[in-house]
Amino acid sequence: MTEPLLRIEDLYVRFRTDEGTIRAVNGVNLEIMPGEMFGLVGESGCGKSVTGLSILKLVPHPGRITRGKIWFRGENLLEKPESAMREIRGRHIAMIFQDPMSSLNPVFTVGHQITRVIRRHHHVSRREAWERAAGTLDDLGIPDPERVMRSYPYELSGGMQQRVMIAIALSCGAELLIADEPTTALDVTIQAQILELLNALRIRRGVSILMITHDLGVVAETCDRVAVLYAGRVVESGPTDAVLQAPAHPYTQGLLNALPRPSARRKSLQAIPGSVPGGIEEIPGCPFHPRCALADDLCRSKTPIMTPVDSSGAHLAACHLIGKSEG
Ligand code: SF4
Repeated sequence: MTEPLLRIEDLYVRFRTDEGTIRAVNGVNLEIMPGEMFGLVGESGCGKSVTGLSILKLVPHPGRITRGKIWFRGENLLEKPESAMREIRGRHIAMIFQDPMSSLNPVFTVGHQITRVIRRHHHVSRREAWERAAGTLDDLGIPDPERVMRSYPYELSGGMQQRVMIAIALSCGAELLIADEPTTALDVTIQAQILELLNALRIRRGVSILMITHDLGVVAETCDRVAVLYAGRVVESGPTDAVLQAPAHPYTQGLLNALPRPSARRKSLQAIPGSVPGGIEEIPGCPFHPRCALADDLCRSKTPIMTPVDSSGAHLAACHLIGKSEG
């Protein structure tokens, strides 16, 4: 049986603030297989970006990983010293963000930035690094790689900047790419091109991709499996088709009802009432109960655990209603 490339076990992240402790991530479990595109989806503030940053041990101050294990290639990253993590970041696991300009240095050319990353992880000459960088840009379907290499980031369009970020991320041969809202800042056409590019990389190079997004449309188009995060917990997970076609958790159903779909029979979009909890106040029972139209006394007192939704065992959801409608 194929081993997962990445396994997150029972991850907890806390932020100590003057207002109180924010429980950002509350026992997340997930696995990403080699060559898989895995979607982590939820509203902003649900803990998905913090989960992504935890993998690289880059949770910003005052955040702290307080519990859990993150297995990558058989080793627990949370036990690794900072010197080992510096080697893993970029070389084995890379990350791209929503705004490429926040990651690209405006005063250096694209070529300088890609070759610097390559030379940090590989003992190659400047010329070899340059050639490898140009080859990566070419591989990503970027026309005239030499021109792009000699350009400054501000001379490129948003879509081209994001392609450059992907090239930087992959130039050292990373096996796992964490893509945090990589297309949110782009217009629809460019968005589709970037998603297509990521999908092609997954197929051609066998790169695993953790796609962090608020957009179920992006998940539907690209991801093999998906986990829906709410208040720092996975509330539903499984093969993308199963989760999106037969969502079992009322929160996932709410996200889907809020998604504009041209073919939908609904006349208007339905927003989920209320907002994502801030994480300071502890919510007893099901974390979604204050926003759930189906909540009852059990929901308010007992936290539901992940339960198989169907006989496949691959589709799970954390809701007391699972199985109740049957028989
Ligand atoms: Fe709603 Fe209860 Fe299910 Fe939570 S456990 S999602 S409150 S029905």
